[in-house]
Amino acid sequence: MRTRKIPLRKCVACQEMMPKKELIRVVRTPSEEISIDLTGKKAGRGAYLCGKVECFRLAKRSKALDRALKQPVGEPIYDELEKEFIAVEEQFLASKEMAGE
Ligand SMILES: [Zn+2]
Repeated sequence: MRTRKIPLRKCVACQEMMPKKELIRVVRTPSEEISIDLTGKKAGRGAYLCGKVECFRLAKRSKALDRALKQPVGEPIYDELEKEFIAVEEQFLASKEMAGE
């Protein structure tokens, strides 16, 4: 049986290629707001992170989001995103379990 091609994206923190649905998307909207996009459908420039807070912290330390979003993110925004990330992490892992993975 041939496996279907799964769209892969690279985590900006650990550089690992992962199926898109296993990554959390951070988006910079056209109005320059940076937020976590769980739908994966928001307009704007996106960056992907593994659904792990360790990867978020790595991205924060290495300023990987600044590079991926082509905009300086800044400490306060990283802090905000980190809180949001921790909040969505559980939701994200729960939804993966529900999908039987
Ligand atoms: Zn990662």
